[in-house]
Amino acid sequence: MSEVQLESLLEIAKLKNPQPESLDLITRAYNKAKQAHLNQKRNSGEPYFNHVFETALTVARWGLDETTIAAALLHDTLEDTDIKESELKKEFGDEVVFLVNGVTKISHIKYRGNQAQAETLKKMILALSEDVRVVFVKLADRTHNMRTLQFVPKEKQQRIALETSEIYAPLAYRMGLGNVSGDLEDLAFPYLDPEAFHRLTIQLKDHLESGEKYIQKAKEILTQELNQHPELSIVLIESRSKRLSSLNKKLKRYDSDLNKVYDLIAIRIITKELNDCYAVLGYIHKLWPPLPGHVKDYIALPKPNGYRSLHTTVITEDGRPIEFQIRTEKMHHENEYGIAAYWAYQEGKNRSEYLEKKAIFANARQTAWINQLKQWQANMNDPDEFIASLKIDFFKDRIFVITPKGEAVDLPANSTPVDFAYAIHTDIGDHCVGAKVNSRMVALSYELQSGDVVEILVNKNRKPNPDWLLFVKTKHARDHIRAAEENEIHPLVKGG
Ligand code: MN
Repeated sequence: MSEVQLESLLEIAKLKNPQPESLDLITRAYNKAKQAHLNQKRNSGEPYFNHVFETALTVARWGLDETTIAAALLHDTLEDTDIKESELKKEFGDEVVFLVNGVTKISHIKYRGNQAQAETLKKMILALSEDVRVVFVKLADRTHNMRTLQFVPKEKQQRIALETSEIYAPLAYRMGLGNVSGDLEDLAFPYLDPEAFHRLTIQLKDHLESGEKYIQKAKEILTQELNQHPELSIVLIESRSKRLSSLNKKLKRYDSDLNKVYDLIAIRIITKELNDCYAVLGYIHKLWPPLPGHVKDYIALPKPNGYRSLHTTVITEDGRPIEFQIRTEKMHHENEYGIAAYWAYQEGKNRSEYLEKKAIFANARQTAWINQLKQWQANMNDPDEFIASLKIDFFKDRIFVITPKGEAVDLPANSTPVDFAYAIHTDIGDHCVGAKVNSRMVALSYELQSGDVVEILVNKNRKPNPDWLLFVKTKHARDHIRAAEENEIHPLVKGG
């Protein structure tokens, strides 16, 4: 049997993980996953294995380590096959299993379009993941699921597309994975607003056809100008059109007038040296006047997610605006791969200088990530500590548990099924008689863990037990148990 797929995966994995042990781990995970999903098919009719393979290929392309690639291959084995956790642990070790479990846990969270919850849900996903590599695997998994969404039943398509656009794309954006975030938005767009999608596709095509000539002309004029300065380290000059989904968002703010969107097509200039970015900006402004208010220095002041580039919009000879984006190769790579770019960053030499610059994240919400990045860097020489530093522990004293319907519930650490029951609804708390955690019966005093799926058994004729006060953690639960107790001592007389 020829294993073309395995060869192509190893080829990419080798770039960052050349050690024979690394390639051996990936090969074993590949074979295990292939065997495990042997007779399973996707909705499209293709072998299920193709899905986990594509997921692994994606994280390998992001330059992630062999553990993450193995976990990506195995990410659906615990949920969807007969393979037991103990078996995986024995064959692949704790770390791979930890990552697989993380992906399984966050997959239990379902978003059903309550926008007020979106922010909390994103935090919960991060907290439940405990390790950024879990989020990477989940994003790769979601990207492939979105690419094959046409085969999924209609009702499910809507929910998944909405969850992708409102939870996973913003999460990817916040992690600095600009390209992944944009891909996810573009993949969700036709499902969320098919009418706008078709209209814009046609409009954009017309606009690009008529605009093609002036873009080419501007590119030529600029190339000629830059050729006169051979000292500049120009790597690439390319044009790109705006993504459909982001164009759609922008048009909503501009009365749907395509002519008011100045960055519909942008010319991107990539340099080797930072100083050359500013030099190129100068030459562009020498050729064409910049539009006031449209010169942006995201190198000196990066966007909160770490995005760095110079942007300017100029007015060309025929009166049309064009946006230019100027950045170094390194910035470009980071803009597309975010935190993954750090993970994969191999040159030790300039790393600290590099992180210093990146550390100008303007936003306080990013602090956890910056600290994490700094820790990664500091612990590079000690693999164990390095792994420990990847843990996402900025929600130390909270846990997130999940209802059987996939809703996430935020509770203080050490909460019990009774706290959970009261958090869902007072009636459920008042009448709860038992609880199942991950399908197993547990005591009502059981200490819940993040990621537990909790189901409460109720009996309408039962009342709260005062003994619960000995173990509940939330004030909400305590108040209701006490209230019921007082009613017991001084019963409200209600008729006969
Ligand atoms: Mn999957």
